[in-house]
Amino acid sequence: MRVVTIKCLRDNYAYLVIDDTLAAVVDPGEAGPVREALDRENLRLAAIWLTHHHADHVGGAAELAGDGIEVVAHASDVSRIEGVTRPVEEGDVVRLGRLEARIIHNPGHTLGAISYVVDGCVFTGDTMFGAGCGRIFEGTPAMMHASLQKLAALPPPTRVYFGHEYTANNLRYAAEAEPGNAAIAARAKAMQVPSTPSTIADELATNPFVRAKDVDELAARRTAKDMFR
Ligand SMILES: [Zn+2]
Repeated sequence: MRVVTIKCLRDNYAYLVIDDTLAAVVDPGEAGPVREALDRENLRLAAIWLTHHHADHVGGAAELAGDGIEVVAHASDVSRIEGVTRPVEEGDVVRLGRLEARIIHNPGHTLGAISYVVDGCVFTGDTMFGAGCGRIFEGTPAMMHASLQKLAALPPPTRVYFGHEYTANNLRYAAEAEPGNAAIAARAKAMQVPSTPSTIADELATNPFVRAKDVDELAARRTAKDMFR
């Protein structure tokens, strides 16, 4: 498996997941840059894997969709995303050539948020970011806490491909939330753009939302981060 990172819109990332000449695109916020990457890499698009219904993640999906292209989203998002052909739930498996991606349901940012776990990688959309997490728009802090802990339980070397380049700002907040954490300072110092992918090990060491000791601390940190600039 190979992954190609594609910059979309202002600070979004789409990703090509590649098996030989077949590709799935994760979260095509717009079609143009995805088409260019497919052409450049000589790939046939076989699937569109959506993490949640927000326009900056699905905006290019309808234009890229077509005959034989599987469009995957959580079952609860079918009414909110045009053209879903494969509604999925926790534990379902979607295929791309020889690859199998397992679905993790991650309510919190939205109720139908999902992640895709495939070949030592996880695509987390707006649930887990580099040193951060998405805003809690539709779910509850308890949901976000459980969702992040589910992701944090993946093997530590798992590479984390997230939906936005927010890592530098997230690390500034992280340093404020945990001033004594040397791993946060070290990550901020070493950070380069693009900062994707990180690893579950990085997030366990530096992500103040993953590291929150309980739901109350997660909620307090999320509220503080919402106001942080
Ligand atoms: Zn979102």
